[in-house]
Amino acid sequence: MERVYIGLGSNLDEPQEQLHSAVEALGQLPATTVAAVSAFYSSESLSPGQPRYTNAVAALDTTLAPLELLDGLQAIETAQGRVRLERWGPRTLDLDILLYGDQVIDIPRLKVPHYHMQARPFVLYPLAELVAEDFVLADRRRLAQLLADCPFVGLERL
Ligand code: ATP
Ligand code: MG
Ligand code: MG
Repeated sequence: MERVYIGLGSNLDEPQEQLHSAVEALGQLPATTVAAVSAFYSSESLSPGQPRYTNAVAALDTTLAPLELLDGLQAIETAQGRVRLERWGPRTLDLDILLYGDQVIDIPRLKVPHYHMQARPFVLYPLAELVAEDFVLADRRRLAQLLADCPFVGLERL
């Protein structure tokens, strides 16, 4: 059994509803339970001209292997109407694997810890709600240090 953290994001078609539906769908993945979900946060899109995002982080306990989990997440994205037109385009749902137990994974389809999490307050602050203050990532970085380097700017806790 592995503890996994998933980043959820949406900026189309009722983002908060999309996240609620996604949490329910995560709980229906095989061999997986949802242990905790952070508050929802609103932030400006990183790409200019897009609607605001709603984000959250969920903690899962799963015996799915990393790529099985990624398949499951992508099926949920598709079921909730995600269409991939342009990279970083607006989307009904994005589900990213932030952390998978204490594994460091670096293959073309999957990079864990998620490659950009240290630069994203909408990932780090909800994650911090779900872990202990002295939490250390699989690559030995301390969450407290990442938070100190990534101020709570442009983020609204809903
Ligand atoms: P970003 O990666 O900057 O958050 P994105 O989430 O919009 O962008 P997607 O279009 O959702 O990017 O995913 C593109 C590809 O990234 C996926 O097909 C997947 O194979 C790959 N990928 C690599 N690492 C991860 C990860 N940790 N979680 C989810 N997908 C990943
Ligand atoms: Mg993403
Ligand atoms: Mg993604």
